Amino acid sequence: MSKYQSVRGTRDLLPDLKGRFRYIEQTAFQCAQNYGFKEIETPIFEFSDVFHRSLGETSDAVSKETYTFTDRGGESITLRPEGTAGVVRAYISEGLAQHNPNKLYYYGPMFRYERPQKGRYRQFYQIGVEVLGMENALTDVECLDLAWTFLKKINLADKCTLEINTLGDQESREKYREALVKYLTPLKTQLSEDSQKRLEKNPLRILDSKDENDKKLVQSAPKMDEYLSEASKKFFADVLAGLDTLKIPYKINPKLVRGLDYYCHTVFEFVTTELGAQGAVLAGGRYDGLAETLGGTKTPGVGWASGVDRLAELTLIKNIEMPQAEKPIAFISLGDKAVLKSVQLASQLRQTGTSCEIFMTGNFKKKMEKANKLGVEKAILIFEQDDGSLEIKIKNFTTGEETVTTEEAVKCQATKL
Ligand code: ATP
Ligand code: MG
Repeated sequence: MSKYQSVRGTRDLLPDLKGRFRYIEQTAFQCAQNYGFKEIETPIFEFSDVFHRSLGETSDAVSKETYTFTDRGGESITLRPEGTAGVVRAYISEGLAQHNPNKLYYYGPMFRYERPQKGRYRQFYQIGVEVLGMENALTDVECLDLAWTFLKKINLADKCTLEINTLGDQESREKYREALVKYLTPLKTQLSEDSQKRLEKNPLRILDSKDENDKKLVQSAPKMDEYLSEASKKFFADVLAGLDTLKIPYKINPKLVRGLDYYCHTVFEFVTTELGAQGAVLAGGRYDGLAETLGGTKTPGVGWASGVDRLAELTLIKNIEMPQAEKPIAFISLGDKAVLKSVQLASQLRQTGTSCEIFMTGNFKKKMEKANKLGVEKAILIFEQDDGSLEIKIKNFTTGEETVTTEEAVKCQATKL
């Protein structure tokens, strides 16, 4: 046995699991395209500053979880822990503002140095969408509607609950922040070590703490909604009205703040109770200040990212059937010349888009058994006769019926076989 295994927190996506990933990815792409989104792909690493500036130094993703290294040219490089920062960096450096609004989707691996467990990996996959250049509350609704349609299409919508909250505009956040600090400061020594640090740098994050004692302490903390400006209240009301109109069920969760620094107004998470502690399967929100933080002009933005590893796991737990690929036509032959002919004919059919499987080894009976096991419906049987000529038959595996045919007929009637 080789001494090498995949690195802790990474895994091989073997064909069955990768099939689930592919199905989820493609369904998401199709949905995103139906909503007018276009695909973008950014590099999997960026200058470290792209993430440090955008996600905020106090976010877990940056403070504890990044894969950062100095490359041979002396540059500090970070493997992307999420997709939004790179997309917004591209928006700025590629001058995409002239095409606003930009409706973009992406897919790919993300990297976070986390404690690996089920549903939590160090290399994991996200599908994400971003709308840049739209300040409208109905854009948030459109993004949420896309998420809901996607979850419905992969049969997981009824396993997920949409939790939603608002962080308000900058002014509201500032007022709330002050109130929260006032409430938490006398309790500082009782807070977890992480939350004590957050109290100075980003107190809102304490609401999101996973620490049980922190959770108790914030129970009676002031609530965001008491500090919202009129404009922020209206924005949130418009988002909720949009969801009501579209009949998308949701639950307001006043404690939902999300882990990253850049969010404002709407924040949301689709969560499930079926995956233990790793319950968030899709999460996002509005980030109107992000482009400016990265040196661009002020650009409103909203989007979400969904963890494909967790969705795939859910489809497994829930026994959700994957669409079956079309069964191939089996080629089963007897005699060297016949085997060669099967390779030639299968190649021709494959080029016309017909899926074929050639059974090359074992005796005739074994080949038939293998084809049966694969569940094929039709087979081309080729027999080499004593005089060297070839006999070709089509076998219908459902009825057992065999019909003599010709090479030409096989080639021409690929689609009718
Ligand atoms: P969590 O609370 O589970 O740590 P998060 O808030 O850090 O999630 P986001 O940054 O919002 O996650 O990423 C969006 C989605 O990506 C999550 O909802 C989740 O489905 C998925 N995700 C995040 N981190 C991981 C990971 N380490 N392994 C697998 N999936 C992940
Ligand atoms: Mg996390």
